[in-house]
This record gives sequence, structure tokens and C-alpha cells, in this order.
Amino acid sequence: VPQVLRGQKALVTGANSGIGKATAIGLGRAGADVVVNYVAGQDAAQEVVREIEGFGVRAYAHEGDVSQEDQVVDMVARMVREFGTIDIMVANAGLQRDAALTDMTMAQWSKVLDVNLTGQFLCAREAAKEFLRRGVVPEVSRSAGKIICMSSVHQIIPWAGHVNYASSKGGVQMLMATLAQELAQHRIRVNAVAPGAIRTPINRNAWDTPEAEEDLLRLIPYRRVGDPEDIANAVTVLASDLLDYVVGTTIYVDGGMTLFPGFATGG
Ligand code: NAD
Repeated sequence: VPQVLRGQKALVTGANSGIGKATAIGLGRAGADVVVNYVAGQDAAQEVVREIEGFGVRAYAHEGDVSQEDQVVDMVARMVREFGTIDIMVANAGLQRDAALTDMTMAQWSKVLDVNLTGQFLCAREAAKEFLRRGVVPEVSRSAGKIICMSSVHQIIPWAGHVNYASSKGGVQMLMATLAQELAQHRIRVNAVAPGAIRTPINRNAWDTPEAEEDLLRLIPYRRVGDPEDIANAVTVLASDLLDYVVGTTIYVDGGMTLFPGFATGG
């Protein structure tokens, strides 16, 4: 794997499971030092750290809830103490609390918005402060820093029974675009990756039986459920200077899920 992130320092939230785990490992493999954030599951986080250290780069696990302002402030401050700075913030942590509209409680609504949207706001804000303080270091990167928001195809595909989740990802799209516009003058790049259906614990019941998987494949023109590494690869390239001119964009990594698959037969 090309060392496109050599010398850069990355933080990935929710990095002890699924997409975040694969992304933290992928960034380490590409040469970055990595902070592995988690909210629960210390052993899994330590395993990710060990795997990353196997690439000859630095890593440590940091427990913190991205929806809590003081914890995000502390997380980035510690990273600056331990690694000297931050170059790449991957705001990945997210969750679902599914319910039909009329059954959805305030707790379900607020939890999803707090983690998926407010968490990304807090992580972006704290990273941007350090990017602005440090500025561009040409030997490290052409930009002063990268913020990558983990969105979803549900930033544009409405999703019945998941109004809290779809609203949070629609919010992430505008959070990303607005921050990209606001920060570009400082050479800070803000972009998003929007996964389609990726095989992780968040959506296990959508793929863990052959019948469920067949149903799911009907929505995916490429006829393959995605792997966390598909997303990790996109984040790695997006964070690197190879895509230095990409600003304020969402890269859909979805096997064509956003291509209105119901129309695929032309009928
Ligand atoms: P996952 O459940 O495996 O991972 C989510 C991670 O976020 C876990 O490590 C979890 O502990 C962490 N997390 C939850 N609340 C947190 C908090 N308050 N603070 C810190 N960490 C917290 O699911 P995943 O599929 O890997 O999801 C990762 C991201 O990808 C999410 O933002 C999700 O919305 C997005 N996504 C996933 C899919 C998919 O098909 N799996 C599709 C589109 C978008």
C-alpha cells in the first residue's frame, strides 16, 4: 500500500468496530499515526491499536463520547499533547435507534442527532482549531488539515422507519458543505464519504441471512454488499494529497445504490 499519509496524524471516532475500525487500520497502513476513539469496548480498541502498530506507526486508544463537548475537547487536546498535532479528523461514530414515526420517543430522536450530527460538529470544531493554529506544513501535506464526515446514502435517500437517522445524515451533508465553504480559505478540506450497505454490526439483520441479503442486493446494482475496507480505502485516498483539490464533496461508495435501482430494467 502506498504511504500516501506518511507523517500525518489521524483521529477516527468510533474506531473499534465496523467502518471506523477498518478506516483506522487503513490510515495506519498508509503511514499515519492514529488515535482510535471508542465509547465502549476497550479490548476491541486495543486490538485495533496493536494491528496499527504492526505497520510501524504510532497508535493509542482513547475513550470518549463524541456527543459530549468536554470529552471531545479533551480528546483532541490529548492528541495534540501526545502526537504534536492533528492532520486528519474522521468523524465516523454513529448509531441507529429505529422506530416508526408515531412510536419514536424523544430519547431515540435526540440520541441519534446528538451522536451522528452534534458529535460531528464537535469533532470538526476541535480539529479545525488546531488546523488553524498550525497552518500548512508543506513537508506533511499541501492542506492545513482534512475533516472527513461519515455520512450515508441516507443523506439523500429518504428512509421510512428511520427518520432520526436520515435527518442526522441530511444534516451531516449540510454541516460538511458549510464547513467546507467556511474553511477552504484556510486550506482546510472538508468532505464526506457516503457508504451504501456495508457489512457491519450496525445493520446485521440486513445481511445475516441469505433471504435478507437477497432483499438487500435488489437495492445494489453492483450486486455486492460492501465491506468496511471499501470505505477505508475511500477515506484514505480522500485524506491524502492525491485528492488535494477535492473540497466540499461527498464521495458515494455504494455499489450504485443511489442510482434509483428500481428503474434498472428500464420498465
Ligand atoms: P458500527 O456500529 O460497527 O460502528 C459504530 C461505531 O460508533 C462503534 O464503534 C460505536 O461504539 C461508535 N459510537 C457510537 N456512539 C458513539 C459515541 N457517542 N461516541 C463515540 N463513538 C460512538 O457501525 P458502522 O456501520 O461501522 O458505522 C460507522 C458509520 O458509518 C456510522 O456513522 C454510520 O452511520 C455510517 N454508515 C454505515 C453504513 C453501513 O452500511 N454499515 C452505511 C452508511 C453509513
